[in-house]
Amino acid sequence: MTLNNDALNVLYGNNSQSLFDIMEEGEELARSFIEQMDAYYASPLSSFQDNIIARKFYQQKINHIKIVPYPIDGRVTFGASGTNKCDREIFFKNAKVKVEKTPDIPFRGRQRRVGSAVIEYLQLDIAHMEKRLGKDAIFTFATTGNGDYAIEDAMQVRQVIEHNGVKFAITVKPDGILNYANDPTRRFIFEYKTKASGVVEMNGKLDFGGAQADHLRQVTAEAIVYGINEGFIVYESMHKPSWFSDEERKSVPKTRKTWHNGKPLPDFRAMYFYITDEMKTALLDDLARQAELVYNGEIPVMNVEMTSKCGFCPFKSHCKSTLTNAELTHLIEVEKTMASSNMAGKRDHTNLRNYLAEGV
Ligand code: SF4
Repeated sequence: MTLNNDALNVLYGNNSQSLFDIMEEGEELARSFIEQMDAYYASPLSSFQDNIIARKFYQQKINHIKIVPYPIDGRVTFGASGTNKCDREIFFKNAKVKVEKTPDIPFRGRQRRVGSAVIEYLQLDIAHMEKRLGKDAIFTFATTGNGDYAIEDAMQVRQVIEHNGVKFAITVKPDGILNYANDPTRRFIFEYKTKASGVVEMNGKLDFGGAQADHLRQVTAEAIVYGINEGFIVYESMHKPSWFSDEERKSVPKTRKTWHNGKPLPDFRAMYFYITDEMKTALLDDLARQAELVYNGEIPVMNVEMTSKCGFCPFKSHCKSTLTNAELTHLIEVEKTMASSNMAGKRDHTNLRNYLAEGV
């Protein structure tokens, strides 16, 4: 997303002017991060692992393969990546409703597995940066007190918070915390997301809207717990540009070209973020409200907006089976209205239709 006042207003409201300098520097930092990553992957050495680094990395992974149960303190607990869920899903989860395990379309299972595998490789690559790039490695993993890379389980924290008179907990487990060689006092949160939609689509979405709202909520939760307010959400397209330029290839439609002006489209983007106090308060307000709904013990009232979050929800059948007649009638009426309006077939309509079509 290019820096302009509209974009900054969406993210930061009235403080946009004072944040302009921060975001401008942030864009520069994101460029430096990408330059470092590109320098690494351009090097033939990136295909080889250093045995000492790889052993340390995998040993750390092995050390953390264990179950560490949360303390049983009765507090509603939000995972950082689960801070964008609908009120009802949070309620069902905390009411210990049985998770629905239904078979999925096989390619989705393969896609999830690709995402998990690639983050592990990327972390191992970042662990190699200093050795391969020397002084040019300005972003490297911080280390914990016992020498672990500051990633995942080594950085897992569950913090109990009281906000608006409600107590709840947030757990965080970031993809990494980065040191910055040009200013040793600064740390950066690093979150990584793979995209399967295609390199053209990924760039289009990031240029138009910046980092995803749910990803920003995730790093806001991490910022609250760690007190680190800046970092990068890094997106990598699993679909890569054509190996050689496709600009002249007539068989590739204009909108599907993966090269432009002699260069491949970026398949790897770093979106700098800076989390303000207002963003933290807005998230905490929302989590406190959801926690209170759980403590009050009443299933939250269903609304149309919630159906935008059903994609990965494991309580679909239960949710639908617990609708009141009035809620179901309302949803059906809204769907009919949408179907006969210019909203027909658009995202909101499709979400609602999918929800209503789910079997109970
Ligand atoms: S099915 Fe949709 S509306 Fe129901 S709990 Fe899940 S996300 Fe919420």
